[in-house]
Amino acid sequence: MSQYRLLPTPVQEVALRGHCTHARYVWNLAVEQHLHWHQGRASAPSFLEQCRQLTQARAEYPWLAAGSHTVQQQALRDFAQAMAAFRDRANPARRPSWRKAGRNEGFRIVGRDRQWDVRRVSRHTGQVWVPKAGWVRFRWSRRVPEGVKSYRVTMDRAGRWHVAFAAIPEAIRAPGNGQVVGIDRGVAVSAALSTGELLRAPGLTGREQTRLHRLERKLARAKRGSNRRGRVRQAGARLKARETDRRKDWAEKSSTSIVRRFDVIRVEDLKIGNMTRSGSGTAQNPGQSVRRKAALNRGILRSGWGLLVRRLEDKAPGRVERIKPRFTSQRCSACGHVDPKSRESQAVFRCTACGFADHADLNAAVNIAAGHAVTARGGFRDAGPANREPQLLLQSA
Ligand SMILES: [Zn+2]
Repeated sequence: MSQYRLLPTPVQEVALRGHCTHARYVWNLAVEQHLHWHQGRASAPSFLEQCRQLTQARAEYPWLAAGSHTVQQQALRDFAQAMAAFRDRANPARRPSWRKAGRNEGFRIVGRDRQWDVRRVSRHTGQVWVPKAGWVRFRWSRRVPEGVKSYRVTMDRAGRWHVAFAAIPEAIRAPGNGQVVGIDRGVAVSAALSTGELLRAPGLTGREQTRLHRLERKLARAKRGSNRRGRVRQAGARLKARETDRRKDWAEKSSTSIVRRFDVIRVEDLKIGNMTRSGSGTAQNPGQSVRRKAALNRGILRSGWGLLVRRLEDKAPGRVERIKPRFTSQRCSACGHVDPKSRESQAVFRCTACGFADHADLNAAVNIAAGHAVTARGGFRDAGPANREPQLLLQSA
């Protein structure tokens, strides 16, 4: 997904904000309906039914009717898609959840065939058509992909607008060298390659981190609703946005480099959604060690692993293989001996049988490259207690 800075006029910004509010409202309505369904109703309303309800709601609420029908319907379609992804057993995504004002601001437009929806007006400027707002300028910072089908307009926490054109990145041809690489994802190190490379997703610099902490302290002291509070919050959001930008850039560049160098890319079949979702606890184990998990989860998200894998799959369709993560970190890549004790610490692997020692993530990456422990798809949930994920990581987190 290529993202561009959107530069609405003040008048257009009002229209865009309206779309965000409507999209969020409709989305949250859908979330609510599906929650009710969970509590023992006959069936959750389908997309078509929800569309009919939307028509009714628009007839009832003039403020909703004043907005764009396209935007609102698209929000329902997005929700239906998110639910389908959530129910996908082989590859479950997170359950669609509430969208909050100021945090998840955005909406989607599906391009119409009958007229141009994206056009270039000068070397560095493009325009994109948004209902009720008209042609909105954006910075033509790089090539806009051909055949844009839909685009998403978002406002980040720093109040900046962006437009992203949905076009799947072009597949990159395999080098044809027969080479296989295994990639293990870590927390301290974002990705370990079986070639011995350790990739780190960039974050904030030490100085930036210090500044962020200072801002957070200031924010805690600032009076609610004050101007000062707003300013401090914005400054913090800008720093966080910078971190996100760097991580995205890293995932883009790293994935391109990897798919150019190797024919087959093997990764563990770990669903980032599964791991990051578990913090709130289960019925048997309500919220235990939530804080520890939260810290770990932040680490995983920050490492940019999920994004990297997504980009690999986009750029190398059919060349990315998911390996069941069983024993990959307990197995010695030199002699094949499996022993949990070989994993000395999160960072160090030392085989209890042959004495082979290596960075733990690299040892795992070599096992992944070899495709060991490949059985069925299904992720770690059906793996036994010896499975390293997420327990082992948690112990040392
Ligand atoms: Zn060994």
